[in-house]
Amino acid sequence: MTVRVRFAPSPTGFLHVGGLRTALFNWLFAQKMGGTFILRLEDTDQKRYTPGGVRAIVEGLQWLGLQWNEGPDKASLRQMQGDEDWAGAPDVGGPYGPYIQSLKVKRHQAAAQELIEKGMAYRCDCTAERLAQVREGQKARKEQTRYDRHCRFKQPGEVDPNQPHVVRLAVPLEGSTTVHDLIRGEITVDYSQLDDFVILKSDGFPTYHLAAMVDDHDMQITHVLRGDEWLPSLPRHYLIYQAFGWEPPAFAHLPVILNPSGKGKMSKRKATSADAVFVTEFRDEGYLPEALRNFLALVGWAPGSGNEQEIFALDELIQLFSLAHVNPAPAAFSYDKLDWMNGMYIRALPADELAKRIYPFLIKAGVEVDTERLLKITPDIQERLVTLSDAVEATDFLFVEDVSPNPVQLIGKGLTKESTLAILKQAEQIIDAFEPFEAEPLELAFRSAAEAAGMKPGPFFTPMRVAVTGKAVSPPLFGSIVALGREKTIARLKNAQQLLAG
Ligand code: GLU
Repeated sequence: MTVRVRFAPSPTGFLHVGGLRTALFNWLFAQKMGGTFILRLEDTDQKRYTPGGVRAIVEGLQWLGLQWNEGPDKASLRQMQGDEDWAGAPDVGGPYGPYIQSLKVKRHQAAAQELIEKGMAYRCDCTAERLAQVREGQKARKEQTRYDRHCRFKQPGEVDPNQPHVVRLAVPLEGSTTVHDLIRGEITVDYSQLDDFVILKSDGFPTYHLAAMVDDHDMQITHVLRGDEWLPSLPRHYLIYQAFGWEPPAFAHLPVILNPSGKGKMSKRKATSADAVFVTEFRDEGYLPEALRNFLALVGWAPGSGNEQEIFALDELIQLFSLAHVNPAPAAFSYDKLDWMNGMYIRALPADELAKRIYPFLIKAGVEVDTERLLKITPDIQERLVTLSDAVEATDFLFVEDVSPNPVQLIGKGLTKESTLAILKQAEQIIDAFEPFEAEPLELAFRSAAEAAGMKPGPFFTPMRVAVTGKAVSPPLFGSIVALGREKTIARLKNAQQLLAG
């Protein structure tokens, strides 16, 4: 059996990081098993469809490096109503298309018809008012609210197929079903717990329950790895498979992701806090895709058998990944850990590669980047960056004509205006003639100068730091000076002296 898994998001506008985790686990499982990873767009809920939704999914998956082996082709993306969403999407296709649910509505309608003919489903034309009345009555009697099966026993033809109606699955009236989840084991549910749920809506569109099961069957999906929120629906899904007489795939419900505090589900939207939840937000804040991928792999999964390792090369992750080590317990999303991991990945990059990744963040911030200076400063800021966007503030002094140091900061602790002026003058003289113009020898020279002046290096460097970078806290001073260049450094040292003297 070749493993076939799918990621089946609804194009609602954004890709939530929880959805990305589901995609990642599917992808990892497919890689590990030498299987096929399929992208299917579930857009049959017309109310939830948003323009830009497909783009968010495609970009998110590609950014993380999760390429799919089968998925919508360009023609069907174009056919999908709404917008120009298909524009940047790769033309993948595959033998089980279309991979866009709304383009299969006829197939879903035929499937519902098949179940009606088999006596496994029935048409229901109960009005919203009637359903509301039933519900009120049940509430008043403190009963579980559910459809009362009013239409189930009507004579054939009593519900006019040309008038608005839904199709409901006829759930067995007695007995129970045992469903199997690869992560949680067996769960037995009494049919009395389930009502005759809708499989085809009055607008002719299938519900998720019908569409997803038909598509999974048609696409020969072997393993359904999906969010935990679908676990309660699993008995219904088994019933649909049984009604058709199909073999269900294996199911694995991935643990829910909680807020960092461990209390409550991770929010669906960025609320008031600055915390990212959508994939584009992580990208725009400057998380590296490989760091986010590594981090997400550990949200609900661990290599097991005492392996405490946290940083994994992608190959390693694929080798180690197994559903047996997915933990059913909810997993908290730790931004602190993600920050730590992002920093680790940033430090592991070759400096020129890091500079390349920083570059677009500077451009986006409106910085006029001098690439030579950027390349020079990168190794100096590499140690301190948490995200790529931190580089904007760390390097701003390099890409402006002048900085405006604060005179109070220039003078610094334990110094006077006069001693500060003297340090700046001396700095100017040393820098003017110094060879080789490199950070290490420069630093040695200035350490000797500090010693000769009977001062600790820190306070001695402060006036220079503020003069050159405009800030009391900056990247390593001598790396900054070298990146800025001799001429500009001297100009800034002179400016600072004028500022103090004036
Ligand atoms: N379209 C469903 C969702 O976005 C997919 C669930 C599934 O993987 O079956 O939640």
